[in-house]
Amino acid sequence: MSSKTLDAFLQEGLGELKEQGLFNVIDPLEGANGPQVTLNGKEVINLSSNNYLGLATDDRLKAQAVQAVESYGVGAGAVRSINGTLQLHLELEEKLAAFKHTEAAITYQSGFNCNVAAIPAVMNKNDAILSDELNHASIIDGCRLSRAKIIPYKHSDMEDLREKAKQATQEYHKVMVITDGVFSMDGDVAKLPEIVEIAEEFDLITYVDDAHGSGVLGEGAGTVKHFNLSDRIDMQMGTLSKAIGIVGGYVAGSQSLIEWLKVRSRPFLFSTALPPGDVAATIEAVDILSASKDLQTQLWENARYLQEGLQAFGFDTGKTETPITPCIIGDEKKTQQFSERLMEEGIYAKSIVFPTVPRGTGRVRNMPTAAHTREMLDAALLAYKKIGSELNVI
Ligand code: PMP
Repeated sequence: MSSKTLDAFLQEGLGELKEQGLFNVIDPLEGANGPQVTLNGKEVINLSSNNYLGLATDDRLKAQAVQAVESYGVGAGAVRSINGTLQLHLELEEKLAAFKHTEAAITYQSGFNCNVAAIPAVMNKNDAILSDELNHASIIDGCRLSRAKIIPYKHSDMEDLREKAKQATQEYHKVMVITDGVFSMDGDVAKLPEIVEIAEEFDLITYVDDAHGSGVLGEGAGTVKHFNLSDRIDMQMGTLSKAIGIVGGYVAGSQSLIEWLKVRSRPFLFSTALPPGDVAATIEAVDILSASKDLQTQLWENARYLQEGLQAFGFDTGKTETPITPCIIGDEKKTQQFSERLMEEGIYAKSIVFPTVPRGTGRVRNMPTAAHTREMLDAALLAYKKIGSELNVI
């Protein structure tokens, strides 16, 4: 393809996105991603991050990262399977396994990479994957890479899952059921006890992506622990980028699963290992979460305060069961306008509209964290009340 053809293709695509209002403008933060951030020279209260526990800017983590950079340098130097595995990686993996109540764990360079690594490593073209229709993009990509038959089931619809499980197990070799632990746009929790029952009845492999549950539910250990199902889920995936505050991801499960992923998962074999500073900071984060529940308690207190405040004003916060706090406005244009008005009032909360969520269910998504003060949450509530009346939402 000549560069002229490529440019024509790109210009057309970009033009279409802009016309449909789907072109995402990225505003860089001027400084750290804390509970308050500076954007375009203005300090605003940040309700847009996944930094649930405030650990992204925690001094204890920073100190460990600095010390590790001094000792080991800034890069791991190779892929894990050649000579990029440091003692630090193994120490972290041991801690993650203990944290998740599993035999073993393996780390990857991102949560996204976990899903594109682990799913194709265990599933192939003779297999089928039953996937909740609202699963994350990285699950969808992991499933596609595996070349297994992808069978979506209606969101958290256990009858649909059972029906499809029954059929798939008759037609395919291995069958996996895969779900987010916490769904990121609505904050609802997967029905894991029922999923596990269906899985045991039909002999399905179980895989939970707990990106938004780890550090948040189950006293920090995640959604699987929340339902006390640690020995009944085969594969638990988690990120190190949200509650843990850094970057990377992991899969936890049996010793044999982890041994298999170390020889069969491509991002482990062909992409450079997590850097030492990040690994050392992550070890510190896991130690903090294992030793004390204070940050989780603070997160939940803040989330309840914000959710109850919004509900008292008459806002619709949907079916959230976690700190993820959608404020459902409905109309796409009004949702975007709401988010822009919040920004003018010093509150940074992103609007989420079609195609990320179904048409007519546009929402402003608020992500309260343990690091927000009561004053910050009160300021956000005040702005919501003002704009809600102004735009006839409440
Ligand atoms: N799974 C889910 C459910 C997620 O929400 C995300 C992050 N958006 C990921 C995986 C990817 O995680 P990471 O950002 O660590 O790559």
